[in-house]
Amino acid sequence: MKFDTIIIGGGLAGLVCGIRLQEKGQNCVIISTGQSALHFSSGSLDLLGKLPDGSEVVHPLEAIGQLEEFHPYRKIGVEKVKQYVEDTNLFMERCGILVQGNSDRNHYRLTPMGMLKQTWLTFEDFTTFENREKFLWSRVAIINFEGFLDFYTQFIADSFEAHGAMCTVSSISLPPVEKLRSNPTEMRSANIARVFDSYESINQLVATLQPVCDEVDMLVLPAVFGLSSPIPMQYLKQRLAKPLCLVATMPPSVPGIRTQQQLTRRFIELGGTFMMGDTVERGNIVDGQIKGIVTTNHGDIELSADNYVLASGSFFSRGIIARPDSVYEPVFNVDVYFDEDRAKWYQTDVFASQPYMNFGVKTDVDFHPMMQGKKIDNLYAIGSILSGFNPMQEGCGAGVSILSAMNVADKIVK
Ligand SMILES: Cc1cc2nc3c(=O)[nH]c(=O)nc-3n(C[C@H](O)[C@H](O)[C@H](O)COP(=O)(O)OP(=O)(O)OC[C@H]3O[C@@H](n4cnc5c(N)ncnc54)[C@H](O)[C@@H]3O)c2cc1C
Repeated sequence: MKFDTIIIGGGLAGLVCGIRLQEKGQNCVIISTGQSALHFSSGSLDLLGKLPDGSEVVHPLEAIGQLEEFHPYRKIGVEKVKQYVEDTNLFMERCGILVQGNSDRNHYRLTPMGMLKQTWLTFEDFTTFENREKFLWSRVAIINFEGFLDFYTQFIADSFEAHGAMCTVSSISLPPVEKLRSNPTEMRSANIARVFDSYESINQLVATLQPVCDEVDMLVLPAVFGLSSPIPMQYLKQRLAKPLCLVATMPPSVPGIRTQQQLTRRFIELGGTFMMGDTVERGNIVDGQIKGIVTTNHGDIELSADNYVLASGSFFSRGIIARPDSVYEPVFNVDVYFDEDRAKWYQTDVFASQPYMNFGVKTDVDFHPMMQGKKIDNLYAIGSILSGFNPMQEGCGAGVSILSAMNVADKIVK
């Protein structure tokens, strides 16, 4: 099977790259083992929240020039970063994903623990905040579904009260959700979202919430609406008499799964081939060039292309793997940046910046990975597999994935 480009990994980076290549007329395949980091998404896409020295970033585009030269944003270049950031809102819109926020200034979003965190773009489900000083609402009702353990109402109430709001916390029992409780393991966000795929269930919820609406300025519920389309969430917001603030739950993330589905749908609608549940096991490398790849499901049938993109993620998705003494990339065995001294991989304070988060595949400025120091011309690496940045510490995970994906797609078509 021959394609223009083969993309290994169908998370945010692989999908953005595949969509951009299809939009520019290429014939691509994405091969992906399984779930991606989007299934665990907070509901926001981070561009740059902090510099490596820990100082907060208010205007991300102005701060990019202060990053080290090996940071993926510096490899893309400040001007191109600005252009791709501009492109992102329209790109998302074409995929049916509505986001709030802009790159001039970070806004704040609520974490599942009720903390405020800086971010770039936030899915339409969620309420955003211009600053962290004061909330607009004085009377807030925080409501959970009985038996749902992945939504921490008291933490959220504490946070809102610290910002001057008066909160009531309660649980409601709704017959269609109660059915899930017969088996406690079923009481998960994605299953609750399936219940609310029906207008009837949403109407029941609205009727149950009606008396509360009269007493408060705003309602807070867990973000469990709209697994494959935003319509249930939009319908619920329209029907309620008071503003609704959805707060991210513990994983799985309903808005994140929906985003994954919307991106996948767009890629397929544009003619791309998505091979879900298959794993790329190795590459056939001849004279420093990738000639083809071997996957678990296709066995002896080699897949080949002019270009290959490694978007297989970081440790979390097994795009890179740690041994006791080293870190390696399992598909092509390309060079990985890591510290030879294992004691320097982590800090014992779990809240401190963790050095291992900077580990990843080494590339040149065009995102070509290296094999024993020599670049591979028809292979690119994008997203969280890259070295040189710390998504947790810097708050730049989605930004690096989206922008490196767009940059590599443009290099490929050029
Ligand atoms: C748990 C978690 C939550 C996060 N939440 C946020 C957030 O809310 N906001 C934010 O800005 N950033 C967040 N990040 C940072 C995140 O890294 C990026 O936002 C981004 O989603 C990463 O996308 P990716 O495509 O590079 O990798 P991934 O999403 O990890 O996708 C890699 C894909 O490659 C597949 N794969 C791996 N190996 C192979 C193989 N050999 N063959 C075929 N397929 C393979 C995997 O199955 C997976 O689907 C989060 C990261 C993690 C780990």
